[in-house]
Amino acid sequence: MRKTYIAIVILCATPVLFGQQGRSLPDLKAEATAEVDKLQTLTQQMVDEIFSFGELGFQEYETSRYVTAILEKNGFRIERQVAGIPTAWSGSYGSGKPVIAFITDLDCIPRASQKPGVAYHDPLVEGAPGHGEGHNSGMAVNVTAALVLKKLIDEHHLAGTIKIFPGVAEELLGTKAFYVRAGLFKDVDIVLGAHVSSDFSTSYATGDGESSGLVSVQYFFHGKAAHAAMAPWQGRSALDAVELMDTGWDFRREHLRPAQRSHRVIINGGDQPNVVPSEAAVWYYFRELDYTHIKELYDLGNSIADSAAKMTGTTVDHKLVGSAWPPFFNKVIAEAQQKNIEAVGLPKWTEADQTLAKALQKEIGAKAEGLPEKIESLSEPAKEQMGGPSDDVGDISWNVPMTYLMYPANIPNLPGHSWPNAVAMATPIAHKGSTAGAKVQALTALDFLLQPELVQRAWDYFRNEQTKDVHYSSFLSPEDRPAIEMNKEKMERFLPQLKKFYYDPARYKSYLEQLGISTQQ
Ligand SMILES: [Zn+2]
Repeated sequence: MRKTYIAIVILCATPVLFGQQGRSLPDLKAEATAEVDKLQTLTQQMVDEIFSFGELGFQEYETSRYVTAILEKNGFRIERQVAGIPTAWSGSYGSGKPVIAFITDLDCIPRASQKPGVAYHDPLVEGAPGHGEGHNSGMAVNVTAALVLKKLIDEHHLAGTIKIFPGVAEELLGTKAFYVRAGLFKDVDIVLGAHVSSDFSTSYATGDGESSGLVSVQYFFHGKAAHAAMAPWQGRSALDAVELMDTGWDFRREHLRPAQRSHRVIINGGDQPNVVPSEAAVWYYFRELDYTHIKELYDLGNSIADSAAKMTGTTVDHKLVGSAWPPFFNKVIAEAQQKNIEAVGLPKWTEADQTLAKALQKEIGAKAEGLPEKIESLSEPAKEQMGGPSDDVGDISWNVPMTYLMYPANIPNLPGHSWPNAVAMATPIAHKGSTAGAKVQALTALDFLLQPELVQRAWDYFRNEQTKDVHYSSFLSPEDRPAIEMNKEKMERFLPQLKKFYYDPARYKSYLEQLGISTQQ
């Protein structure tokens, strides 16, 4: 009896650190690292191909087709049009617990078209969208990691499921709240997000304190058309209402908390001056540090819009087109991830990589310090929150333990959301940075696949610290729908020209080669 008892204990204890064929976690990690290296050509092709697609939010059709084809070919189960979004999908491989999910963005930036490897503004297609944020590298990171994990699951009979999700329309903060509402993360234990950066890092809780949450709202004013000179008294100008709303908001801005960030663009200012504009529209982002304050800004925006309508004899309705909770990342995952970042280390930058980085930094008047050579240690969350940009993964981070890996695939000191951020994104800087990122994603997934107690600790932190006093409540009302029609016209206008520049890996080793650009000195 006693002997049997001991045998059972050993059997129960072994899967904690070993696959069924008895490979230890360090052995599996070494194998994963070597396998990611073997996939370097595929990683490079994914970076370059998605760069060449240059698709805006909600219009990532080519990108989604391309990525799901790779996953499907490798035995992943694909579910399409998840959460009612045509370009969204999920991929999964393996079975049972734990369920580890990867997520990363797909979409690009309006007017950011740029030839890679060229350190001055030189668009591929004038005025076209382009990867001026570097989201083209994310899927190269996550798909590479997922394919390596699939191989290890098969070879070593590892239990657990790998899931992979696309960040559709992240630049519009347009989907993650809908993903959560659709229950996509209900069975997920750990989420490993990845985002392009110039450094190799991760963070936990509110990190550097420079993130905000937001709502993104469009206000549509409706007036009455009339001849602007012959009978202006018969008209009611929707544009007047937009201008009064904007003026009203700017006066009120002085009396808002310093942490707020709000900005707008007029998306419809009427047709021509001699017609009183019967329709006009303005689009606001209202950013703040927490749910309550974001909601207050949203309510204030609505009431200023109503007042502007009253002043001008027009009517107004609004549409929420995006929302995001401020992200909050998991300490237990971040600590495991940091060790993997340090184990993988920064890519080996060549002279040519550094020259391109410094030339671009000089061109745009930024500090010309080249590419990073050092990894920072995991820092304590900032005491003061400053606020800043947003990412709709925030909503996921309040529903499942999650971290966001920043992998080093871009050049430091760039302005973001514009052509300079596209320069490195189909060059060896992005290729090597994505390979490094894929290693950390694979290694961190292995940490959680093989150590159930680590999954438990991540959930303890999530339940007992992160969500002890703060409870998630979506900004979405039941009527809100994903704004899937956005960017459709813009994308259709540029598609014929962009198609001429799609990368053909069957004919060219790299996109730089296809374009005839040399980054060698
Ligand atoms: Zn982004």
